Amino acid sequence: MSAQSRTTEGRGRLYDSIIDTVGNTPCVRLNNIAPEGRTIYVKAEYFNPLSSVKDRLAVSIIEEAERSGALKPGQTVVEATSGNTGIGLAMVCAAKGYPLVVTMADSFSIERRRLMRFLGAKVVLTPRAVKGTGMYYKAKELAEQNGWFLASQFETQANSLVHENTTAREILADFKDQRLDYWVTGYGTGGTMTGVSRVLRRERPETKIVLSEPDTAQLLASGTPQERTADGSPATGHPAWAPHLLQGWTPDFVPLVIQETIDQKYYDSLMPVSGEESVEWSRQLACREGIFTGISGGGSLAATMKAAEMAPEGSVLLCMLPDTGERYLSSPLFDGVPEDMTEDEQRISESTPNYQMPS
Ligand code: PMP
Repeated sequence: MSAQSRTTEGRGRLYDSIIDTVGNTPCVRLNNIAPEGRTIYVKAEYFNPLSSVKDRLAVSIIEEAERSGALKPGQTVVEATSGNTGIGLAMVCAAKGYPLVVTMADSFSIERRRLMRFLGAKVVLTPRAVKGTGMYYKAKELAEQNGWFLASQFETQANSLVHENTTAREILADFKDQRLDYWVTGYGTGGTMTGVSRVLRRERPETKIVLSEPDTAQLLASGTPQERTADGSPATGHPAWAPHLLQGWTPDFVPLVIQETIDQKYYDSLMPVSGEESVEWSRQLACREGIFTGISGGGSLAATMKAAEMAPEGSVLLCMLPDTGERYLSSPLFDGVPEDMTEDEQRISESTPNYQMPS
């Protein structure tokens, strides 16, 4: 126990809008599960106001479009999203007064839809059979037909730009004069990967970049190029894709936003991880470190643990945790977590005489 009680000072400022609270997420050291002689930090993106990394992108897309004039006051915003981008956009659109329509495959967790609706968005479900490309083309069609602003998270420059200007800057500042041997992430749109890598390659060239993909969807490892239409969107689904548990990672095409990562060779290694090990590492983080992240956070940690095992003694690694575990209550992350009392809990309950509550 420390000699002094903990105290806090406040943030030293007042905020004009919830939007201004996005970013500046903490890098936290793991104290119980890192391999001997290796130091692992996690960058906990669930500290963002709507609990995911995509709050950064949502602010960036809307504010860049306001600046360029592509988004007019009161105009409807539309986007295809597996959830976190929609939730972030719903927050920003609510705060700034834009209506929002989200298209989303019906395979994603129920709480994501309900959250977006709670934040005032309309959610249009697309059949899971038509995969990521299906929800994407639905959003595009709605935008064209209605004159809505399409957020285009998979193509827009505003995506990697916000990670270059915020996520990467935060990492540089927090690891100033400190060792950082590895930075580990997965990709959905690739905004985090491309934006942060652009800066790390320039300013921390000694940091090795590890990019993870689901073992059943190793699109980059396959080396097969993505066919695209003139605007950079996918012309077809990618042949190396198969379904995986890592919601928010690796859609069934290679997004334009991650193409720069491929062309510039921003990663030093590609690390496949399985859905099962991702779920397991998310659980380990929760029950042994008190750090609560979703399946993709477990996937990043699975890749980080593999990198740490291979890294020289003394290495320092930083792992991205994109969102909160609370977003997965109805997903396989919580399979096996009982609703009713277990035998152990029943025994604890019955271990004192007055366990029966008056009815
Ligand atoms: N994990 C989750 C849960 C996500 O929602 C996303 C975004 N789709 C990512 C990881 C990947 O982030 P990015 O789009 O920046 O590659």
